[in-house]
Amino acid sequence: MKRILLLHTGGTISMSTDQRTGAVKPTEEHPLHQYSHLFEENIEISEEDIFHLPSPHVTLHNMLDMQKRLIKAIDEEHFDGAVITHGTDTLEETAYFLDLTLDSPFPIVLTGAMRPTDELGSDGVSNLQNAIWTALSMDSKDKGILVVMNEEIHTARYVTKTHTTNIATFRTPTFGPIGIVSKHKVRFFQKLVFDETYPVKSISKNVCLLKAFAGMDSTLFDALASTNIDGLVIEALGAGNLPPATLPGIKRLLNNNVEIVITSRAFSGIAQDIYAYKGGGKHLKELGAIFAPGLTGIKARIKLQVILEQDNADDLIKQCFD
Ligand code: ASP
Repeated sequence: MKRILLLHTGGTISMSTDQRTGAVKPTEEHPLHQYSHLFEENIEISEEDIFHLPSPHVTLHNMLDMQKRLIKAIDEEHFDGAVITHGTDTLEETAYFLDLTLDSPFPIVLTGAMRPTDELGSDGVSNLQNAIWTALSMDSKDKGILVVMNEEIHTARYVTKTHTTNIATFRTPTFGPIGIVSKHKVRFFQKLVFDETYPVKSISKNVCLLKAFAGMDSTLFDALASTNIDGLVIEALGAGNLPPATLPGIKRLLNNNVEIVITSRAFSGIAQDIYAYKGGGKHLKELGAIFAPGLTGIKARIKLQVILEQDNADDLIKQCFD
């Protein structure tokens, strides 16, 4: 009999609707517990409620707790796969944190729901079912942490939430999902070309994220220069450019030894140093900023955090981004 570790962390998938006000709220008893019997034919499921958090409350420390629970499962328990249910707002951040910090012999799949379990057309139970099938599939091994939502299988590295309420919210811009779950069958069509994992035992660094805009100046960068941040990710314009008025603030941060990583605020495509004008990507790179091609700002922020926690961060930082 195959064994699945099912970790619940909260999110809409664990909430119900107040019929009078329409507000969606956490409940005493996880609503998915009543569906466990649906999945238990020929599978043994070990279910744990490790948190009961709306995902905007999830911190890097919570992510580290999830990672530690999974390391215990990898080292000491004999599971064939693990599924984590999670709020969708920050699901992609937790998924990528686990992807960067875990080397698992069995598949680990994150899922959630856009509609609470008691709402008409709720996606929670079917997403959970698809996530369990994906975690059980031999084909899911060695593909990094996976995100299964709305019958699609995405990589933790590239998936992102694209819609506030629609159940087809999780997408992988530029590269597409790597597989689908269709009528109980798990099928893969693509694979990532490289894996990377870094051990992380604690969270000690402070990494922030800013989005660039037309006419941006140094105000926000100057404000950050008076804090104790260790790293900053910027969702820059287009392929990775910034308005010239940001440069004094950028230089101040670089002089303070703050690592600056450039991504793009564009929905698709990758950040690259193309333009040589003032504030263009080539200029930013010359000043000491690092490009993160293919990663969104929120993923680059998780990666910069993980890299800065490494003992050899100074050597690693350039080689593992660009
Ligand atoms: N706000 C909710 C959360 O992330 C949304 C969801 O789970 O879909 O916890």
